[in-house]
Amino acid sequence: MTEVIMSRFFNSIYKDIVPYTPGERPSDKKYIKLNTNESPYAPAPGVITAMQAEAAGLNLYNDPGCNDFLKAAADYHGLTPDYIFAGNGADEVLQYALLAFFGQGTKGVCSDITYPYYKGYFQSFGLEHSLLPLNDDFSINVEDFASADENVILVNPNAPTGLCLPINEVEKIVAANKDRIVLVDEAYVDYGGESCLPLVKKYDNLLVVRTFSKSRNLAGGRIGYAVGDPTLIGDMNTLKAVINPYNLNTMAQAGGIASFADEAYFRTCVDKVIAAREMFTEGLRELGFRVLDSKANFVFACHEKKQGGDLYRQLKAEGVLVRYYNAPRIDNWIRVSIGTMDDMKAVLDILKKILA
Ligand SMILES: *Cc1c(COP(=O)(O)O)cnc(C)c1O
Repeated sequence: MTEVIMSRFFNSIYKDIVPYTPGERPSDKKYIKLNTNESPYAPAPGVITAMQAEAAGLNLYNDPGCNDFLKAAADYHGLTPDYIFAGNGADEVLQYALLAFFGQGTKGVCSDITYPYYKGYFQSFGLEHSLLPLNDDFSINVEDFASADENVILVNPNAPTGLCLPINEVEKIVAANKDRIVLVDEAYVDYGGESCLPLVKKYDNLLVVRTFSKSRNLAGGRIGYAVGDPTLIGDMNTLKAVINPYNLNTMAQAGGIASFADEAYFRTCVDKVIAAREMFTEGLRELGFRVLDSKANFVFACHEKKQGGDLYRQLKAEGVLVRYYNAPRIDNWIRVSIGTMDDMKAVLDILKKILA
């Protein structure tokens, strides 16, 4: 990890922030990179041409209202554009949501084991929060969230476990917290999870967040959006208008629209990743791993004969990057993103060697 350098001017409210460690990108040799849940596939051909076509017009500002993009997203989900908020990656969307709806004497709650950015946001925005422990099998205790009476963040499918709650369980949480916001982060839902988008017209306290970074092969394109009641979307737009009105750049808007337009390519890529995940999961289990049932483009696994950190280091030495968390409850586990079928077969062969 790089050392944190701090000036004497840095606002003291930030003194306890622990910076998130992004997936490493070593350049000493070629790795099979399975540590950031990127898609192994290129963006759809139409996305590439659409983005290239916008480059010559970058001297002009982009549409701050993202109108064409909002319409494409709304059409895709069978809604109207006032249900959609667009952002520079889901991460920016999440920041607006937290700024808009969290704080005000209410705590934010999320699982103790989940997407680590949330803790960072709570800290950097000075938001009171608490963590609800997952069950021993890493499943979510729905009752804990339903009785929270605080603003809820639910990552579904969860990361790094890959486990997904069905929509009826999510609805229990939303219905039980009617006077609080329930934010459901569906970054991975396209890989076999059940979306709660059908609930957004029924509950004005539900905000669903999506990204193009995983299932739409556009991590570097920085496109995310939220879906929710127009009143919630309106609040987020109010903040965006004063903080960063031109948040979604011209090329990203065009690329996003083109991605929605090529459903066949999207499906093909997602299906290939799911097939590789199922093959890899089975292969890991044959090698004696315990593997959670993932509905995401990664798997979470552990082996009784090898500690997680050792697995991580030995895989890296063999040219495979995976994610290891030196954190309570999960320090025996590794998270492996799903690449191509060939990548995953190669990783299984390497693991066989490591365990022999
Ligand atoms: C990747 C990810 C995000 C962020 O997505 P970006 O659009 O790349 O900012 C948000 N939430 C979860 C759970 C993620 O895994």
